[in-house]
Amino acid sequence: MPLKTKETWVSECRADTIAKVELRVDLKKHKKLRAKGDLIFTKTGIRGPVVLDFAREVTPLLKKYGEVPLLLNLTKGRNEEEITKHLKESALQNTSANIVDLVSTLLPKALSLELCKMAECDLDKTLSKQAGNTRAKLISLLTWTPLTVNGHDGFRLAMITRGGISLKEIDPKTMRSKLVNGLYFCGEIMNLDGPCGGYNLQWSFASGYLAGKLL
Ligand SMILES: Cc1cc2nc3c(=O)[nH]c(=O)nc-3n(C[C@H](O)[C@H](O)[C@H](O)COP(=O)(O)OP(=O)(O)OC[C@H]3O[C@@H](n4cnc5c(N)ncnc54)[C@H](O)[C@@H]3O)c2cc1C
Repeated sequence: MPLKTKETWVSECRADTIAKVELRVDLKKHKKLRAKGDLIFTKTGIRGPVVLDFAREVTPLLKKYGEVPLLLNLTKGRNEEEITKHLKESALQNTSANIVDLVSTLLPKALSLELCKMAECDLDKTLSKQAGNTRAKLISLLTWTPLTVNGHDGFRLAMITRGGISLKEIDPKTMRSKLVNGLYFCGEIMNLDGPCGGYNLQWSFASGYLAGKLL
């Protein structure tokens, strides 16, 4: 399901779609939680395939901590060195470009503007004319942009749900209940979910076929 963020700047970037975003939870205990895929900024937060998949990891943490800090690499996995090199080369190729124009060679314009503002850049000036600490802050933000999840859009807008009939109570060869004679299950009513990309539909069709065949 789509996630809401504390940061309101996302609304300025709504409909900006970013490919191959790397997402990770910025909590010591949960550093291993990562995902990669396409992300879309919305009026109130983030959505898109990677968010839908990651939401199932984030929502339990949200319940536990109230807020979940995330770090996003929006620059297709580039590290600080690669971003610095890219910006320097772009500045050499276009000497009249200001900092927002230069960042826009990596990201959509609205998002570039927001990140430059966040780094407190002098928006009219080029890369070399920015203060050293501002430049460093911008590069750091382009490598890992922080966002804080503070809510979600709820069950009504969820695409795939976790939970359901325990798989232990179902015979996988027939989909028949081990507890109730003559009762068969298929699809999402069972406690099984997969990533976005057709796996859930496939599972629903396949289990439905199997259950129907043996009825
Ligand atoms: C917006 C959206 C996008 C999605 N995109 C994808 C995707 O790209 N890829 C993917 O793999 N999965 C996707 N999913 C998930 C996928 O659609 C579901 O996992 C799958 O449809 C589940 O199939 P199902 O037959 O178990 O349940 P459903 O398709 O929900 O069917 C249940 C049916 O039971 C009916 N029903 C409910 N209560 C009663 C009742 N009391 N009496 C009679 N009938 C009743 C409902 O009207 C419904 O027709 C998406 C889901 C949503 C909501």
